[in-house]
Amino acid sequence: MEILKNDAGLEEVIVDLVNSLSAVKDLSEINYQVSDEKELIRNALSVLIQNQDMERCSLFLLDEDNVLVNLTGLSASESMGSIERKYHPLQFKIGEGVVGTAALTGKMQHCQNCAEDKCFTSSKKKDDIELPGSVISVPVFADNELVGVLNISHPQTFYFTEWHFRMLEIYKNMLGQLITNFRLFQQMEAQISKRTEKLEEALADLKVLKNHFESISMIDQLTGLYNRRYFYDQAEIAISNAKRYRQALCLLVLDLDHFKQVNDLYGHGFGDNVLVKISRSLQQQVRESDVLVRYGGEEFVVIFPNTNCVNGKIFAERIRKKIEQIEWEDSDYVQTISIGIYCLSDECCVPENDDLKIDKLVNFADMALYQAKAQGRNRVVLYNEDIAEK
Ligand code: GH3
Ligand code: MG
Ligand code: MG
Repeated sequence: MEILKNDAGLEEVIVDLVNSLSAVKDLSEINYQVSDEKELIRNALSVLIQNQDMERCSLFLLDEDNVLVNLTGLSASESMGSIERKYHPLQFKIGEGVVGTAALTGKMQHCQNCAEDKCFTSSKKKDDIELPGSVISVPVFADNELVGVLNISHPQTFYFTEWHFRMLEIYKNMLGQLITNFRLFQQMEAQISKRTEKLEEALADLKVLKNHFESISMIDQLTGLYNRRYFYDQAEIAISNAKRYRQALCLLVLDLDHFKQVNDLYGHGFGDNVLVKISRSLQQQVRESDVLVRYGGEEFVVIFPNTNCVNGKIFAERIRKKIEQIEWEDSDYVQTISIGIYCLSDECCVPENDDLKIDKLVNFADMALYQAKAQGRNRVVLYNEDIAEK
């Protein structure tokens, strides 16, 4: 097989060899992580054109209609950046012309004198395009499937040698691999973004569910009031605001009087109804900025932010009276409530230190409540230091 050009000297052979190796090396270094397949192909073609003495090369890609279309191509002048060439897209059916024959046979085709070749002379496109001197068409496979035909042309007739044929065999394999990698990478990216989208959707659903469960876990089923969990979240905020803005705050612990007897005498169902009605009355008497919770059993806690001891006691007294005045189906029935208040302010009940915990506040109000019970129930007692000493 004749590898050398007929008149080539050793020096020329070495130059060809170095150029071929450079083309292969540059092709192996092309980054397939580009956004567009056309850009990838242009990069690959420019490697070929820059390292080989070729006039023009293009890749005819096989489209979904099984037509070979060259959407991108490159000439030596374009590759050097000297001329902006107006691009004429060409297309061939499988089996049509040299390009179509390469696709049909799966084998490299070449034409050393295009003006004399019937593929070109019979082509109806011959008037539209400038005929090259010689042409090589190489089928390119990606993952064993034909993706297109690499077409290289030169204005000179009988320009291409065995050397070019050999080099293009290697080159087209690498180009096929590059396109395979690119397509796999695109598929992978598409799958990743699809999965990410699905994950984000699932996460959003989970958030909705979490909020739902959080809200229902903070609400007392019987009365519809917030429960102790909600209280701890809100009390923390109310206390830190009171400290920051040096505002007074009142915390009330409310406990139904003799409620055990109510259950014993009228039944648990009636007791439940009492709890619901009392809760409604409490709800009507507090502002939106106040915190009202069913603390447990027949105990409630209220926080009045920005409220001093005098007003706290007035509000508590009003609550106590309203509860006492509630009318029940059994006209003889009266439900009373006892209330202990702890007031967090500079004038009264001054905290010993800044690190006053919620439980401690509740505990002080509880001590006042205990006094209210001890003094005969159905009353409001404000915590003071005397109570603490008892
Ligand atoms: P005191 O005046 O000292 O507070 O007496 P009391 O009977 O109210 O106090 P105690 O703590 O001994 O009893 C509270 C009762 O509240 C006991 C329990 O049966 C009743 N109770 C707690 N939760 C519920 C509830 O959800 N429904 C009903 N019906 N009763 C409840
Ligand atoms: Mg109780
Ligand atoms: Mg009670």
